Amino acid sequence: MSSLSLLADPLWTSLDAPSALFPDIPFVIFQIFAICFGACFGSFANAAAMRLVRDESPHSPASRCRSCDKNLRWHQNIPIVSWLILRGKTACCDAPLAPRYIFVELAFAGLAFLYVSIMPLAVASYLLLIAIIMMIALLTDLEAMVLHPPSLLLGIIAGFGAPFLIPDWPVPALHAAIGAALGSGILLLFNGAYRLMRGHNGFGAGDIWLMALIGAVLGWQAALFSFFAASLLGAVAGIGLILSQKAGAMTKLPFGLFLSFVFLLYPALNMLLF
Ligand SMILES: [Zn+2]
Repeated sequence: MSSLSLLADPLWTSLDAPSALFPDIPFVIFQIFAICFGACFGSFANAAAMRLVRDESPHSPASRCRSCDKNLRWHQNIPIVSWLILRGKTACCDAPLAPRYIFVELAFAGLAFLYVSIMPLAVASYLLLIAIIMMIALLTDLEAMVLHPPSLLLGIIAGFGAPFLIPDWPVPALHAAIGAALGSGILLLFNGAYRLMRGHNGFGAGDIWLMALIGAVLGWQAALFSFFAASLLGAVAGIGLILSQKAGAMTKLPFGLFLSFVFLLYPALNMLLF
């Protein structure tokens, strides 16, 4: 046994291969569907994150151009495809489109392909819906260092419900409960210590919700792992920013960004590596 396999999470290493639910349909069809749905999910997460950061209603009417405010036609709003055809510019006023549109759509399409390729279909689909919440958290934390507790609460409820709703879901209800308590508990403990030493909290309330979500959805081992992996990623990013003189030692980093990133890859990494 290699020392690496000590990190393996038994819940997420022993999932069955994609189920042969529809043996007559070639598996590649599911993978193509996953890529299409994933790109749409990514597009939705991007739009929702932008609206949340700007205090706009997440379900206000049609998509519009952020430069000239014109409503977008359906064919100007196809994930990945429109960005490529329009070469990264808006069709209405030729304003440059942020690379984040295509980047997030491609990333989510890739994630959906990966999940569907290695997990039972029901588990992959359910996890992808929760991944939308995590992608939104990642994007809002990256852009504005804010998280959106109501959507995280929805994710926690989804995590608690999964063992009862989804056949083959690998996390038992007890693990989900312990995971949520342990995940949020670690940050509450750290905040207590912070307040004693420095007089203020080290983590925001959003981070605590996020850790509870990770525990509820992926189990307690994932909550522990995510905390340490995100801290490590944050430290590396912080050192990088200080060295490139983009940040100082006291600059706050978006911890939720790193947590969400670890969450999205956690099940796949476990299944692929161990
Ligand atoms: Zn425009």
